[in-house]
Amino acid sequence: MEQCACVERELEKVLHRFVTYGHQSEERLDELLRNVCELRSQLVTFGVQDADLSVLSQTMAQCCKEIKETVQMLASRHKDIHGSVSKVGKAIDRVSDRSVCLEANLCPASSNFDAEVSAVVAETVWDSPEKQRNLSETIVEHLYRQGMLSVAEDLCQESGVVIDMSMKQPFLELNRILEALRMQDLRPALEWAVTNRQRLLDLNSSLEFKLHRLYFISLLNGGVDNQLEALHYARHFQPFAAQHQRDIQVLMGSLVYLRNGIENSPYRSLLETNQWAEICNIFTRDACALLGLSVESPLSVSFASGCMALPVLMNIKQVIEQRQCSGVWTHKDELPIEIDLGKKCWYHSVFACPILRQQTSESNPPMKLICGHVISRDALNKLTNAGKLKCPYCPMEQNPSDAKQIYF
Ligand SMILES: [Zn+2]
Repeated sequence: MEQCACVERELEKVLHRFVTYGHQSEERLDELLRNVCELRSQLVTFGVQDADLSVLSQTMAQCCKEIKETVQMLASRHKDIHGSVSKVGKAIDRVSDRSVCLEANLCPASSNFDAEVSAVVAETVWDSPEKQRNLSETIVEHLYRQGMLSVAEDLCQESGVVIDMSMKQPFLELNRILEALRMQDLRPALEWAVTNRQRLLDLNSSLEFKLHRLYFISLLNGGVDNQLEALHYARHFQPFAAQHQRDIQVLMGSLVYLRNGIENSPYRSLLETNQWAEICNIFTRDACALLGLSVESPLSVSFASGCMALPVLMNIKQVIEQRQCSGVWTHKDELPIEIDLGKKCWYHSVFACPILRQQTSESNPPMKLICGHVISRDALNKLTNAGKLKCPYCPMEQNPSDAKQIYF
């Protein structure tokens, strides 16, 4: 972390220098321009014949000198900035070194950041047009999710990817609603939630109630003038009375303090501003669930995972090469070691065969024996002897064809 903070500090220094440099050069250039313009207008007004030539040549020489000095000064400051930029590079080198070392629990072989990631990627990853199209589609979907519609359209045109309007539509709507929510406009979100009320309730979502609650709070913010409107609005809570009784009591209780200001009352927590960021998150989560989409785009998830896994893999690759055991990692849908990406990246359970110590796959699925123990199909085949199988755990003798495939 300390190393990351160091990069940030260096980066800030560079940015600051760039801005100062920009201002200074603009100021100096403006000044020079003014001088030259002045000189020109003098020449036009008096004419060369009338002017004292020696004075004129002196003034011109002075002007040229100033221009030369300014150019030299700007060039030397520009060189200084180069120094700062290279310091950022060095700081980044230190961070990558350290994190690779810590995560893989290995010592880095070289002290420089090795950006050559192609070594850990199988050569066939992007070799077919179909795979390239999948990549383009994933990027386009990500851009739609981010609301970067024109960039997505451009990419579609350039890559020849055709996106169905029905796939685009939900993202356009979600973005429109989220944009409004960020501007603290609840109406589009409320309309959407009311239209999808039953489906949201089926998902056990309290989005609609939370939107009404926030609208009510925004009315409270308007003070005593909004008292009547707030009371009228409270009828929107009626369908949620059973599930959110406590919340509704708090909201109604706060009305008592409207005259003196909610901010001076025990209900001041109702006015906390982080509720807006929270409602955006809740809306994204529930709307995505309703549309059958993951909350985060597949591209962001893959990218984040790659950032964590690549340094480790690059190090492993180096170790494999150094020890000359290149057959260990064949790139065939498997990684040479397990890489922990944190709980956020746990999507489903995995099963590793206790006999072969390998993660099960589609071609080698987990099989449940009649005694209840589970092993992989390859292990089952290996342990079968003359049409009989002895469970390696209990050890019950059984017919291997009685084993059933199970799914995680
Ligand atoms: Zn058993």
